[in-house]
Amino acid sequence: MFCWLSRQYWGFSTPTGRMAHLIRGSLSRTLVVGSQRRTPEFSSFVARTNTCGELRSSHLGQEVTLCGWIQYRRQNIFLVLRDFHGLVQVVIPQEESAASVKKILCEAPVESVVQVSGTVISRPPGQENPKMPTGEIEVKVKTAELLNSCKKLPFEIKDFVKKTEALRLQYRYLDLRSFQMQYNLRLRSQMVMKMREYLCNLHGFVDIETPTLFKRTPGGAKEFVIPSREPGKFYCLPQSPQQFKQLLMVGGLDRYFQVARCYRDEGSRPDRQPEFTQIDIEMSFVDQTGIRSLIEGLLQYSWPNDKDPLVVPFPSMTFAEALASYGTDKPDTRFGMKIIDISDMFRNTEVGFLQDALSKPQGAVKAICISEGAKYLKRKDIESIRKFAADHFNQEVLPVFPKANRNWNTPVAQSILEEQRSGLIKLMEIQEDDVVLLTAGEHKKACSVLGKLRLECADLLEARGSVLRDPALFSFLWVVDFPLFLPKEENPGELESAHHPFTAPHPSDLQLLYTEPEKVRSQHYDLVLNGSEIGGGSIRIHDAELQHYILATLLKEDVKLLSHLLQALGFGAPPHGGIALGLDRLICLVTGAPSIRDVIAFPKSFRGHDLMSSAPESLPPEELKPYHIQVSWPADSEA
Ligand code: ASP
Repeated sequence: MFCWLSRQYWGFSTPTGRMAHLIRGSLSRTLVVGSQRRTPEFSSFVARTNTCGELRSSHLGQEVTLCGWIQYRRQNIFLVLRDFHGLVQVVIPQEESAASVKKILCEAPVESVVQVSGTVISRPPGQENPKMPTGEIEVKVKTAELLNSCKKLPFEIKDFVKKTEALRLQYRYLDLRSFQMQYNLRLRSQMVMKMREYLCNLHGFVDIETPTLFKRTPGGAKEFVIPSREPGKFYCLPQSPQQFKQLLMVGGLDRYFQVARCYRDEGSRPDRQPEFTQIDIEMSFVDQTGIRSLIEGLLQYSWPNDKDPLVVPFPSMTFAEALASYGTDKPDTRFGMKIIDISDMFRNTEVGFLQDALSKPQGAVKAICISEGAKYLKRKDIESIRKFAADHFNQEVLPVFPKANRNWNTPVAQSILEEQRSGLIKLMEIQEDDVVLLTAGEHKKACSVLGKLRLECADLLEARGSVLRDPALFSFLWVVDFPLFLPKEENPGELESAHHPFTAPHPSDLQLLYTEPEKVRSQHYDLVLNGSEIGGGSIRIHDAELQHYILATLLKEDVKLLSHLLQALGFGAPPHGGIALGLDRLICLVTGAPSIRDVIAFPKSFRGHDLMSSAPESLPPEELKPYHIQVSWPADSEA
């Protein structure tokens, strides 16, 4: 009876899907990254002889010492012990002579840390647990020591027990005990290790640390400010090691990389953190093709073995094409539903708002075809899609349901001519149950709204059971030929850098810099994975005069802030270029984690707070004095 219960509870605790894979397979074996397999020695230098997760029938008869956390206890007979490597069943001795061992193991609360020694024995026939990698054996305990007892926990350490993210972050050290967090952080560590190996050992890169106390960089993201003891003088935390890595090229280091911590004070965004990690790279004498091949090789080499191998080279697309077909510079290319320009079909239209749009410069009519939309989308979905377009983009969107009977259910059905209908069906390859969303307006705006709706509709269709994006698919894409400058959001008459001010112009557009700078393309490239930007970089300006002209004349920046860099470029700077991969986002996509916070050991909350330690914190005035700082409290503050 007891034995039956002990086997059954595994059925209850057995998770499904990826978690099941994690728990059933021992973590070290699941996490083989790259080409070479070598099992690390997990029990060197420590009190245990083996890990909980490694014991198999091949260990039968061995005397072992294990250290771990009590995961479950059943009927005071069985105890399941857990460490980072997995779970193992331990048999609590029942003999009178082992009463003290029994007392320790039966009284210690769940999640207490114990050390046990005993013999590996096979489970009685019929009581093996095929769902557990250690399920053929158990450990018959002889001695036990309670290393630390566990107080009442704020939540159970079981992956299937739901808890709010705020609670998880408050007790992050407990949350880290989950199999999922262990998996995410270990996969991250192994991928980074393989990246180091690829860069340093295979391609001669040098790992160099750059300062985190730095000064303000013009343009780009907002930086965190750090007071200094000199009155009115401040450091800034770097948004990236950009200047340093370029200066390392001037210094002849030739190939630099760093697992670099970067800081951006950009407020809360779901896929951002105020501090985050980049794989930061710079090379001398390289062009775009060289950087792209390096990154493709790097990802291929460090890619986890339990995923399909990456196929290189990755496809590429120009920025103009990405905008026209997907309405964004980071297209999710796992599914179609591309934006189609249908302006030519509506040149003679009588529909007012289409006519109006087409009469303007850059005016266009665009559409997307939602495959089987009529089957999955409800009328209220269409209404909310239209409202979304109106509220966020001030754009009218027409739904068109081209049923075979031609009784098109659209507000302007009567005004669409027969030839327009058939032309549309042919051009967009529309099928019986599809829905077409049509909009008109300035090219960029029309594309942006349809790009957003394309993603909204994909989410909706998937929520209703349609399979659009294969979860096992990793769709990489290079986006190239970005504009060098964009009109400033707050003042469209002025220009700002689309990437950063050190990006080199496209060689064929050099002359336009002095005549029509807004038309210049750049040598900037982004790497996109499944619709998220996971990296970006550029070939840099290595000519001091050109850099000065762009900073001072076109961007109207204070060149004094960058005099050191401008001077360095004048002292024989080699041509160079580089890239940075967003490590947190990359690992998040690889692990399928719902948020980048799930692949960072101690992340900040949505509002940039550390919920565990309560940083940031107020400081008493006397501690601020050495920095010559006084806080002026906002009127509604509680402090
Ligand atoms: N420093 C750039 C960034 O952080 C990347 C690069 O240009 O290499 O986005």
